[in-house]
Amino acid sequence: MPIQNNRLPESELEKNFSDIHPPFEHAEGAAIEANRCLNCYDAPCTKLCPTSINVPLFIKQIASGNIKGSAHTIFSSNIMGGGCSKVCPVEKLCEGACVFNLLEETPISIAKLQRYSTEQAIHEKWKLFTRKPSNGKKVAIVGAGPAGLACAHSLSLEGTEVTIFEKEAKGGGLMTYGVAAYKVTPTFCKEEVDYILSLGGISVQYEKQLGKDIQLADLQKNFDAVFLGIGVGVARSLEIPGENLEGVMDAISFIYNLRTRNYSQISVGDKVAVIGMGMTAIDAATQSKRLGAKEVTMIYRRTEHEKPCTEEELDLAKLDGCSFLWLSNPKEILGENGKVKNLVCSKMKLGEPDASGRRSPVDTGETFTIEVDMVIKAAGQIPFEGLVNNSKLDNKVGKIKIDNSGMTNLKGVFSGGDAVNGGKEVVDAVQAGKDAAKGILAYLKK
Ligand SMILES: Cc1cc2nc3c(=O)[nH]c(=O)nc-3n(C[C@H](O)[C@H](O)[C@H](O)COP(=O)(O)OP(=O)(O)OC[C@H]3O[C@@H](n4cnc5c(N)ncnc54)[C@H](O)[C@@H]3O)c2cc1C
Repeated sequence: MPIQNNRLPESELEKNFSDIHPPFEHAEGAAIEANRCLNCYDAPCTKLCPTSINVPLFIKQIASGNIKGSAHTIFSSNIMGGGCSKVCPVEKLCEGACVFNLLEETPISIAKLQRYSTEQAIHEKWKLFTRKPSNGKKVAIVGAGPAGLACAHSLSLEGTEVTIFEKEAKGGGLMTYGVAAYKVTPTFCKEEVDYILSLGGISVQYEKQLGKDIQLADLQKNFDAVFLGIGVGVARSLEIPGENLEGVMDAISFIYNLRTRNYSQISVGDKVAVIGMGMTAIDAATQSKRLGAKEVTMIYRRTEHEKPCTEEELDLAKLDGCSFLWLSNPKEILGENGKVKNLVCSKMKLGEPDASGRRSPVDTGETFTIEVDMVIKAAGQIPFEGLVNNSKLDNKVGKIKIDNSGMTNLKGVFSGGDAVNGGKEVVDAVQAGKDAAKGILAYLKK
């Protein structure tokens, strides 16, 4: 069977893409879990949260039935605490730091408790924050992703008027257009964005692209400061022969389609090869399987030991029935009648550690060939180098450089999130947005 859509009945697709981490069914469940927390005085969970949410406090508030208080605690540190409760890799953050791990007991379900509290706040539209009186300043933000939204919220709280310019038709950034559908639904993403904007003082101009519809120089002229939260958007190419064949696509476009259309409309092959082993690769592989692909093979040039994804993500791909080719590097994609037919891979071995500290893959000179009808490239994303250079922003291969206050080389122009770090997680982008807001407020006072 060639690449095609509508492989599974609607009911099965619905099941495959339903919430991977279901919420507490009853308030009692949340209360019981909250009461397990030891409220450690040194709170390792808070220390490992990039936004420093006071975890013991919000859990104690849930245990005592003060759900509004707990939502306030969470949102004071992380205004996307709702989304983060669904998408954060908590196994390497708060839950990974829980002392119960040392006792070989199940860590507190921090994310589930955070979700319990924040979902109520978002669904019931609790008004937990009030803006300070106007400070008379106007800030332009480019990008309505986690970094832009967190920056906007922090600025608006202090009485600043914020205008966000966003190239897509919806806000949320990769939360809306990138994260796997079984982690967070488009409906929730919209509710979360609406909740953040409900503070007031923030207007969003959708379908306005920097470099096309708007220019940085005009924003600098018309606003007191600018924040660039444009993320990284371009998928890295493999630079091997055959990339233009029908059936080769990048993971970002594949997932974007999944997030913007009905699942039954998304085409997938019988035998899919996914290149890469990061979070995006795992998402592309598991979602291909959940759309009805018969075989999904993940291909990675190092060993399992050096993989960039977490153990939990790898387990998910294993549970979904994906298979893995370690120490394998794509060399050429072969086609027939313009369509993908085979993938030729080089066999690799491990050499000396590279700049990342991981042992580097070295080509052995041997190759092998597998039969595939679809190749999904998930070998990383590259920053908007052209846009950044045209705007005369100091950068390192497209990653915008900032100083300690979050300011770029251009006076009054700040940046943060994936655009600066090259691609981390939602929670890091939220913190970067908060940090930049602090820098902007200090700059505006000068
Ligand atoms: C496939 C995939 C899966 C992921 N899964 C997870 C996950 O499970 N958990 C997790 O924590 N993180 C995940 N991430 C990472 C996470 O989504 C990002 O780190 C986070 O969204 C970065 O936020 P940001 O605001 O910096 O950038 P983005 O979320 O990319 O937002 C940037 C915004 O700027 C807009 N924009 C870009 N250029 C312009 C322009 N020229 N003019 C106007 N607007 C512009 C974009 O449309 C977008 O809305 C994933 C990433 C990918 C790619």
